[in-house]
Amino acid sequence: MDLGITGKRALVCASSKGLGRGCAEALAAAGVNLVMNARGAEALEATAAEIRAAHGVEVVAVAADITTEEGRGKVLAAAGQIDILVTNAGGPPPGMWADWSRDDFIKALDANMLAPIALMQAALPGMMERGWGRVVNITSQAVKAPLGVLGLSNSARSGLTGFVAGTARQVAGSGVTINNLLPGIHATDRADSLDGAVVKSAGITLEEARARRAATIPVGRYGTASEFGATCAFMCSQHAGFMVGQNVLLDGGAINTTL
Ligand code: NAP
Repeated sequence: MDLGITGKRALVCASSKGLGRGCAEALAAAGVNLVMNARGAEALEATAAEIRAAHGVEVVAVAADITTEEGRGKVLAAAGQIDILVTNAGGPPPGMWADWSRDDFIKALDANMLAPIALMQAALPGMMERGWGRVVNITSQAVKAPLGVLGLSNSARSGLTGFVAGTARQVAGSGVTINNLLPGIHATDRADSLDGAVVKSAGITLEEARARRAATIPVGRYGTASEFGATCAFMCSQHAGFMVGQNVLLDGGAINTTL
């Protein structure tokens, strides 16, 4: 399917690896020029070079922490005028509800709620003026079904979801759509670190931890970054102009609900 976005320009945050990279690759495959970001310059430059070589699109790589004002300033200055924004950042660490301090919450809110909101506030006016834009926020299945140990993530991402629900309807009349993409478990470094915590607490091997988790998913496996990226690219396409304020869950059927 032609996504109808060849020649558009996308900022894909936190995209040297994992789900962000999957989104960047799928957009590049659709002919979208990219501004990519991550903190570590080496992996970022390597990924940017691979994507340039594979898809022949323009790729600007900006090494910066997207959760800080300074980092965002650097990324947005390099990005210039963008048509597509994919917000993303690392997720908060797992833990226990009784242990989290105010600082822990502020860090999680900065990374997974206030950073994407600040990026939208920067990008939306230009998109609205030009009459076309797409925003996809990578959030989490935790928005639909909480994981107790990820309480910091549950809290911050729920806040972002509330902001998007209202704002998406305010900007939709200008040709700009905002939606959220909710990953269930996907095979990335993040999944390894979550499984690593299970290895420690349950005293089992990493393979056992993965097999136990995979057994809780109806499709019987983890999702892939390329499946995730393809869905993101569709949500950024011309065909998705009637999709507004939705929370699209990609979890292999793990959350057992009717709606
Ligand atoms: P990942 O494999 O750990 O990749 C994270 C990517 O983000 C890397 O490129 C990393 O590069 C970059 N990054 C992290 N923090 C950043 C920051 N502050 N500024 C800029 N770049 C940053 O993670 P993932 O699995 O793709 O997960 C992406 C998001 O989805 C996370 O918020 C995660 O919590 C959420 N999620 C993932 C899953 C899953 O199963 N994978 C499930 C639910 C939710 P640097 O380290 O070099 O910055």
